[in-house]
Amino acid sequence: MAKCKFCGKSGLFLSVNAEGFCKKCANKPFIQNLEKMKAERQHDDAIFNSQIGRINAAREQYAMDKDLEKIIAVYEQVLLKEDINWNAYNQRLALSEYYLKAGRNNDSWGMLNQLVMLAPDMNYKTRYTMFKQLKKENRHKDAIRMLFISYYDKNNGVNYFKEEFTEKFEKEAMVVAKKLSWSEADVKELRGLLDGLIKKTVKKPNPDEKIAFDTVDKFLQNK
Ligand SMILES: [Zn+2]
Repeated sequence: MAKCKFCGKSGLFLSVNAEGFCKKCANKPFIQNLEKMKAERQHDDAIFNSQIGRINAAREQYAMDKDLEKIIAVYEQVLLKEDINWNAYNQRLALSEYYLKAGRNNDSWGMLNQLVMLAPDMNYKTRYTMFKQLKKENRHKDAIRMLFISYYDKNNGVNYFKEEFTEKFEKEAMVVAKKLSWSEADVKELRGLLDGLIKKTVKKPNPDEKIAFDTVDKFLQNK
């Protein structure tokens, strides 16, 4: 015996549609909206599954053949030529790294700069990738500057201060500082500035990077 999913009516002569609603309920705007939303969601899911499926297949292929241009072509097709209705932050970041590997530095920078605007809550990760790129481009001073911002962003995501965070910063900065012939004291001074900035700030979803940029730029002016 048919039973309506919405009003609960049932009876020998009651018929329900494929979705389980009686004729009266199926015509209600509320139910029609629900059905429309469900159809849209199914449509979005199908697009997502196709896009993520092609990206995952391309990654598996790349693991075997290491063909950079091939994997980049798939990522570009999905991320730059098609409509994306899901959060593709990690995939966009991955594309920036494939560009870098392929020596397409300008494309990599374009993608990273876009990510800073698209996903400010992920800036610590985007800025860290920028740091790696600057290091690779032998722009040591800019690299240290970006490392500083990346650590500032990362620590502002938590409302407590952890010594080991800036300890890690010091270690990473030291590697680059050697190329600039900076002393250990220079790096320690910079770490001190980072410590001070982080201790002062409270938990914010999107930290104010300007304060951090101003601080590190002032420091770098005298270097
Ligand atoms: Zn009904």
